[in-house]
Amino acid sequence: IWGQAREELQKIVGADSFATWIEPLRLAGVTDGTAVIACPTRFLSDWVSRHYSDDILKVLDRVGGPVHRLNFETRSPVIRQAANSVEPRPQPAPRAVDEELTAPLDQRFTFDNFVVGKPNELAHAAARRVAEGGPVTFNPLFLYGGVGLGKTHLMHAIAREIQARQPEARVLYLSAEQFMYRFVQALRDRTVMDFKELFRTVSVLMVDDVQFIAGKDSTQEEFFHTFNTLVDQGKQIVISADRAPGEIKDMEERIKSRLQCGLVVDLHPTDYELRLGILQSKTDVFRLQYPGLQLAPGVLEFLAHRITSNVRVLEGALQRLFAFASLMGREITLDMTQECLADILRANDRKVSIEEIQRKVAEHYNIRLSDMIGPKRVRTVARPRQIAMYLSKQMTSRSLPEIGRRFGGRDHTTIMHGVRKIEELRSADRSLAEDIDLLRRLLEA
Ligand code: ADP
Ligand code: MG
Repeated sequence: IWGQAREELQKIVGADSFATWIEPLRLAGVTDGTAVIACPTRFLSDWVSRHYSDDILKVLDRVGGPVHRLNFETRSPVIRQAANSVEPRPQPAPRAVDEELTAPLDQRFTFDNFVVGKPNELAHAAARRVAEGGPVTFNPLFLYGGVGLGKTHLMHAIAREIQARQPEARVLYLSAEQFMYRFVQALRDRTVMDFKELFRTVSVLMVDDVQFIAGKDSTQEEFFHTFNTLVDQGKQIVISADRAPGEIKDMEERIKSRLQCGLVVDLHPTDYELRLGILQSKTDVFRLQYPGLQLAPGVLEFLAHRITSNVRVLEGALQRLFAFASLMGREITLDMTQECLADILRANDRKVSIEEIQRKVAEHYNIRLSDMIGPKRVRTVARPRQIAMYLSKQMTSRSLPEIGRRFGGRDHTTIMHGVRKIEELRSADRSLAEDIDLLRRLLEA
């Protein structure tokens, strides 16, 4: 009944309030007419019980009644879900470049709004180059990276920019899922010829999240033919995926190799500076939305340190914080931040331990776990150890001295040196960078 109740509540309170206040709630159960609502933080439960009790009661009574009392409980039922629930909602009315042709583009996803830092500068530069047109040099452009690192943002920005520069160009942007959906529909309606015709006459084809069609044989096949036809005609293609072409499972070899024949660039996980830059840029936007709101120093830095999972979660956190502070009419302080975002901060804390990192890295490089903390200096051992140091710095909130202690009592400068070394190497050495990404994904799973 919660699903249905949520739908009704969204209609009553509106999408904005819904996303901020109701979405994070869960219905824990109904006994004797009392519904227990689980809230991830006390802040939320206070606010919701004061402002939305009547609506929630009314709706629950209607869809799953009888319910005549609500009981708000603070607990963190499913941390992951709570963190997801603050994803920014889809824009109300995205405008399509070409309604019929392309999927709607998010207005906010422009080059201007894309904050560039070390982890994404290559992807950004390549995207820019493709968007600026001229001779087709990187074809296909293949962008990959983890969830929420800006792939879709860059793709929309490319589509928009090309369309702005060449209004007559037929830019087709869609997700691989939509590609499959349209293809299956064409099969069903016996309009496959029209489908082929449409896809083979575009000037730019952009397919987002291509890993989706892995294992979907006939869709893959069709995609492959479309792809080849367009490349042969010298049309620009841009593809994104959550991993490198070679790592996509259940994708035919010939497709993988075609996907790699242009330029393959990845979006690395964000680093502290990039996160801070993104927070600053989003704050400028929120300030316009919530004029007069005060932000205490150190809050953005705190968030950039503590929320490392992905940009979407970071944005959602800031969004909730501003909404909350504006409703309370209070300055955003560090205390408020910690309370208001307790669930998100907790979810980010539940990250891997240094021991897990050491174990996985040792396994991956086939060295002994004891070598992680031991003194050996041969490269085959020292390099994996540095990778483990790097991942420990990136994926946990431990300080350098703390990390040093867990690496057999090494000095913090040794750890720093290791971290720097890997940072340096990963931008030059693609296979190392891929290794690290893989390890990261294994550890996050
Ligand atoms: P992906 O497609 O890689 O999962 P998205 O492109 O949907 O990620 O990005 C998730 C959210 O984070 C979007 O709202 C996007 O605008 C924002 N975002 C990601 N990277 C950046 C960046 N470098 N600058 C500004 N916003 C970013
Ligand atoms: Mg995406």
